[in-house]
Amino acid sequence: MATGYLYHEVFGWHDTGSHAGAFPSNPAAGLQPFIHMENAETKRRFHELVVVSGLIDHLVRLAPRQATDEEILRVHTAEHLARIESESEQPKGGDAGDGISPFGQGGASIARLAAGAVVECVDAVLDGRVDNAYALVRPPGHHAIASSGMGFCIFGNVAIAAAHARAVRGVERIAVVDWDVHHGNGTQAAFYDGSDVLTVSVHQDNVFPPDSGRLDERGEGAGAGYALNIPLPPGTGDGGYLHVMDEVVVPAVRAFGPDLVLVASGFDAGVMDPLARQMVTSEGFRAITERVLAVADDCCAGRVVMSHEGGYNPVYVPFCGLAVLEAMSGVRVLEDPFLPLVSGFAGHDLKPAEAEVIAAAAVQIPAAEGS
Ligand code: ZN
Repeated sequence: MATGYLYHEVFGWHDTGSHAGAFPSNPAAGLQPFIHMENAETKRRFHELVVVSGLIDHLVRLAPRQATDEEILRVHTAEHLARIESESEQPKGGDAGDGISPFGQGGASIARLAAGAVVECVDAVLDGRVDNAYALVRPPGHHAIASSGMGFCIFGNVAIAAAHARAVRGVERIAVVDWDVHHGNGTQAAFYDGSDVLTVSVHQDNVFPPDSGRLDERGEGAGAGYALNIPLPPGTGDGGYLHVMDEVVVPAVRAFGPDLVLVASGFDAGVMDPLARQMVTSEGFRAITERVLAVADDCCAGRVVMSHEGGYNPVYVPFCGLAVLEAMSGVRVLEDPFLPLVSGFAGHDLKPAEAEVIAAAAVQIPAAEGS
C-alpha cells in the first residue's frame, strides 16, 4: 500500500496575522490582540510529528503545484478570483470575504497552491502512483462558496479537485465525506443541484456557518437526495461518530457507488478543540478513517484523497492526524500519549439524542443505483 503525502512549508506562511481569536482585535470592544485561531501551528506541528515519528519514511512525498485559473473557475466566479488576486498584491493583504478570514501579501499564490495540492493528490491516485493520499494544506477550503471565501477558507480545495476529476479525468461519480466539525457548506453548494457528486457532511449542529447544514438540506433538482447532512449534538464522542459512519456515511457511499472518495479532513471534532464541543479521540479518527478506506476498497479500489480542513488545538491535532495517516498507510509508529486520559472521559458512548439524529439521516440515504 502506497500512501501519498503532500505538505509544503509555505502553507505555514499563509499569514492570518494578529487577531483576537477569530475576530479582528478592537480595544473599544475589549478585543485584545492575540493570534488568529487559524494559524500555522496545528498543521506545522502535524507535519513535524509525521517527520519526527518516522512515518514520513513510509509515505510517498508528493509536490504541490498552483491551481490554474481554469481549475479555480470551475468552482468560483471570476470576480472572486480577481478580488483575491488584487488584495493579495496589497502590502497588508486582504480578506477572503467575510471579515474573519484574513490573508497576507501573496496569500493568493498560497491558496492556489493549496487547491493545486489537492488536485495533484487526486491525479496521483487516479494515475496509480499511490493508492491513497493526504494533502496537508492551508488555507482550508470547505466553507468557500462560488462568489466568496469564508470561515478561514479562500478557495474550495476539495470542490476544485472534484471538479477537476470530473472534467479532466473523466471520473463520473465522486463521494465527498466531510468530517470537519463545521458544515461543509461550500463543497455542498458547488454540487447541490447535481447527482454526480454526493456530499456527506458530519458536523456539530449549528456551529458554523450559522443556520447551515440542517437535516433538510438534501440537494435540489437533479441533485435532490445527493446532499446529506448529519448535524450531531454537542458532546458527541467516539461512539456517536462510529455510529454515524456505520449507519449513514458508509451505507450512503456504498449505495452511491463512487469512482473516487474525497475526504474533507478536519480535526476540530477532536476532544481538545477550542472551536467546537465534540469529543473525538485519535482512536476515533483512526476508526472512522478505517471505515472510509474499507468502503472505498469495495467501491473504487481504495481511491481516497483527503484534504486537510480545520482543527485548532496545536497540541492534539498532530496525534489525530498521525492516526489517520497510520490508518491510510497501514503503518503504526507511535501511541497517542493523550489517549489514556481522553478516551476515559465520560460521554464517548452513543447517546439517545445522537442516535435520533443519525436515524433521521439514515432514512434519507438515496437508494442504490440500479436498484
Ligand atoms: Zn472546521
